[in-house]
Amino acid sequence: MDVPFLSLKDVNARYADALKAAAARVIDSGWYVLGEELAAFEREFAAWCGVRHAVGVGTGLDALSLILRGYRELGVIEEGDEVILPGNTFIASFLAITENRLVPVPVEPDPASFNLDPACVEAAIGPRTRAIMAVHLYGQLADMPALAALATRHQLLLIEDAAQAHGAMRDGRKAGAFGDAAAFSFFPAKNLGALGDGGAVVTDDTALAQRIAALRNYGSEVKYRHLFQGTNSRLDEMQAAMLRVKLGYLDDDIAWRRRVARRYRDGIRHPQIRLPEVAREEQHAWHLFVVRCAQRDALQRHLQSCGIQTQVHYPVPPHRQPAYSTLRHAHLPLTERLHDEVLSLPMGPTLRDDEVDRVIEACQAFECPP
Ligand SMILES: *Cc1c(COP(=O)(O)O)cnc(C)c1O
Repeated sequence: MDVPFLSLKDVNARYADALKAAAARVIDSGWYVLGEELAAFEREFAAWCGVRHAVGVGTGLDALSLILRGYRELGVIEEGDEVILPGNTFIASFLAITENRLVPVPVEPDPASFNLDPACVEAAIGPRTRAIMAVHLYGQLADMPALAALATRHQLLLIEDAAQAHGAMRDGRKAGAFGDAAAFSFFPAKNLGALGDGGAVVTDDTALAQRIAALRNYGSEVKYRHLFQGTNSRLDEMQAAMLRVKLGYLDDDIAWRRRVARRYRDGIRHPQIRLPEVAREEQHAWHLFVVRCAQRDALQRHLQSCGIQTQVHYPVPPHRQPAYSTLRHAHLPLTERLHDEVLSLPMGPTLRDDEVDRVIEACQAFECPP
């Protein structure tokens, strides 16, 4: 039997009865878009994050993009303005910026945390900079106090890409409660995953939340009255109902992820395998457990031969993708090295202790080729 990277079937089997009951409730209601399930989920998720508003949208990418779109409609940012973000992120962070005709300015991360390095951010601030987009990569909070101080000093927006970080905490505050606005993804494999696509914007800014609620619904607050050229990106009633069930188990799931991470960090002692560094335990919600190894491909093949599935997040940074040939001259050597060295070990709320033991044993048995 292989150790799967993540079994979504096992994840959802644990509360299949509750999910089926919730699905039946939606089917029987006869109301499938912008209804009571979404309104209830938005209240419950905002409360869980510790913020005033949550607005459910179609995907995590749309959540990020609609934050920028909302600020454009509010006149806070305009076409051609720059957004600073880490070079080592999933392409969605970049897409949200460019689809709003803004300019992404990728900077190098801090090598210990993989997250934005405030010194690199500060060096990249110029006259057109309007926002910092912090990505809580792999589930670990970026250095939000330092980034918030920078944002205040330079009058910049601070936006969180929290797509991987549901439940990461610092000083009693959760991811999503640090910036001016934050985007979450409910893609099935995320810490809180729907049974399809979904996303949400969370913010304390009432004007922004109202603007985004209109933008996701054709720019309309009143049916067939269109204030803005909006889009159609709504978290539907079925997904909202699924997410309400799963939100009830999210704290336990994150606690289990932390336990798996603790066991990996205690058990893996290998000179060629670099473990993730964590400043404070609560700061990491362990969406992914990512090690670094100069011989990454050999390590991946070795683990595969031991029946252990791994993944690479991500093999090619956005500025090296054909889609962003305009950025190909960006000088980001650390970002590029990270993409060559990172490997994500199995991680999830259903990974059993004996499976964790097998991963640890297999890592310990890795013989690095010369
Ligand atoms: C998953 C992810 C997104 C996009 O979320 P989708 O729901 O897949 O659109 C954005 N940013 C990061 C860092 C992600 O991991």
